[in-house]
Amino acid sequence: MSVSDKTAVVTGAGSKRGIGRATAHALAAAGWNIAVLDLDEAGAKDVATEIAEQHGVQAVGVGCDVTDAASVEAALAVVESAVPPVGAVVNNAGITSPTPFLEVTSEEWERIFAVNVRGSYNVTRRLAPGLVERGFGRIVFLSSVSAERGGGVFGGVAYSAAKAGQLGFARALARELGPNGVTVNSVAPGLIDTDITAGKLVGEKEKQVLAGVPVGRKGRAADVADLITYLC
Ligand code: NAD
Repeated sequence: MSVSDKTAVVTGAGSKRGIGRATAHALAAAGWNIAVLDLDEAGAKDVATEIAEQHGVQAVGVGCDVTDAASVEAALAVVESAVPPVGAVVNNAGITSPTPFLEVTSEEWERIFAVNVRGSYNVTRRLAPGLVERGFGRIVFLSSVSAERGGGVFGGVAYSAAKAGQLGFARALARELGPNGVTVNSVAPGLIDTDITAGKLVGEKEKQVLAGVPVGRKGRAADVADLITYLC
């Protein structure tokens, strides 16, 4: 299947060492045109330039807060005027926090859900009709092993709950959209070597987490990127 006439939208691909950027590169290497949506507008534009130069595909980077439907609408209007029709959506933008449940505030709880769950909803709700209309689509969610085993990595209860929410979202959506040629999948990585923990997973805490990983080390962003590219 050729994807050179299609665009993959990857949210949260602005961060330098993130899963999103690695995924945008892997998808571009497979022939997809790329649209990056990130809160970090400079990062989004930077990765788009990098991708167009390195892979010879079309790429656009737009500043966007996925939690805000109006921001998503504005960003995707730019995307649709700049690159070929969207064929894939990677709901990668996400935030985490290790705050223990007895210390978590409603604001923090809401924020974790807003980015991970509402953000995925805003982007997917806006793009799914076009995928269905064109009879082809690939949607991938970034859940986490935290959702399946109830933490034990870095994120606290809010993160596990939000990532579990994404799993249910993806499973139910797969049932609805599958008959229209749109597949929906989730990947649930363990600890991956990115900057999402903001330097807060160090020392004994890091050792404890790694002791529970069969290969004894963090995963690499490129490994997850290859899996997402396969699913697309
Ligand atoms: P990262 O912090 O490197 O990148 C996250 C990106 O999301 C950043 O570029 C950030 O600017 C963007 N972002 C945050 N809030 C946003 C918003 N409101 N609107 C638009 N963009 C926003 O993180 P990462 O480690 O690459 O994680 C990517 C995804 O994978 C996340 O959903 C994360 O929960 C998930 N995940 C990560 C790990 C891990 O160990 N790193 C494990 C399992 C799942």
